[in-house]
Amino acid sequence: MLNDRPCIVNLISSRNTGHPLSLQLPQLGEVFYRDQLTPEAAAKLGPSVDVLVGASNLKVPKSELDLYPNLKMVADFGVGYDGFDTAEIIRRGLRFSHTPDVLSEDTADLGLALLLDVTRRVAQGDAFIRRGDWPKKNFPLGRRLFGKKLGIAGLGRIGSVIAQRSQAFRMEVGYTSRSPKNVPWQRFPDMKALAQWCDFLIVVIPGSPETHHLVNAEVLDALGPQGYLVNIARGALVDTDALIKALKEHRIAGAALDVFEHEPHVEEGLIALDNVVLTPHQGSATVETRADMADLAMRNIRKALSGQAVITPVPGTRKD
Ligand code: NAP
Repeated sequence: MLNDRPCIVNLISSRNTGHPLSLQLPQLGEVFYRDQLTPEAAAKLGPSVDVLVGASNLKVPKSELDLYPNLKMVADFGVGYDGFDTAEIIRRGLRFSHTPDVLSEDTADLGLALLLDVTRRVAQGDAFIRRGDWPKKNFPLGRRLFGKKLGIAGLGRIGSVIAQRSQAFRMEVGYTSRSPKNVPWQRFPDMKALAQWCDFLIVVIPGSPETHHLVNAEVLDALGPQGYLVNIARGALVDTDALIKALKEHRIAGAALDVFEHEPHVEEGLIALDNVVLTPHQGSATVETRADMADLAMRNIRKALSGQAVITPVPGTRKD
């Protein structure tokens, strides 16, 4: 507490002046942007801090958590929490919330937008016209979605929405996940078997040490020269060097990526290729969804500050 008000440290960049959660946080207490605190100021403030706000594209290691010995909760603006030291949060018995479900529809839309873009060459066509190539050259044919096999790696909240949407495109769905689901679609035992079966492989599995490089050279070869990869999960799910090699050698037809192993840095090898579509981690990035995420994060923080269970706890963390 600070001046009898809850004390909040916000890890979201202070340069992001329109961030919908950052704008609302002052309703709840005294807010400090982490990137505006010197190491000395952060250490001095540390014992007063009740709430740490992060986002799923940020790193929140133990060294950051150690600065705040009296923390009550950690709030993640996003559904993925692979950047947070969850084991340490659990060890300290902290409440830890994230923002699932409210972003599923929009993230699914982006996955399908990327699939349509890479197969129907939307961004490529745009660049072709802007370069003035249309009067001089033929534009290559694309590939249809209708009647094709869509392999969904991770039939969770987002994967299930993608599966539903894909029915409108009249695609056949297959999936892989840790446990079988009560759905009419075929389940494959692993990523390689799914890649072997499908035309389009879309990855929506959380980032974790277990899922690191699940899409490797073997999986890409199973997808094959007519196959396309879409990654809207986490960059670390895909072995980027193996992907660049497979794309260069046309061992797969194309890839569309919203997430990257070292984002915001994107490998030059990817940028140089024209059978790749790239977006800067835009899955949940609509005005409406970001507002919904901010609203859910605010409700979670309010609950924790009044000593109650958060509405959407990160799996494995405190539920009371
Ligand atoms: P979710 O509901 O937890 O679904 C995750 C799915 O992945 C589940 O089907 C789960 O299987 C499966 N899975 C987990 N570990 C696996 C493994 N080792 N092998 C095979 N399948 C595995 O999560 P969600 O809400 O759909 O979100 C998924 C991820 O998308 C997030 O964690 C985040 O990283 C990413 N995301 C990205 C953006 C973006 O901006 N690009 C936006 C939102 C989310 P079980 O059901 O059997 O456990």
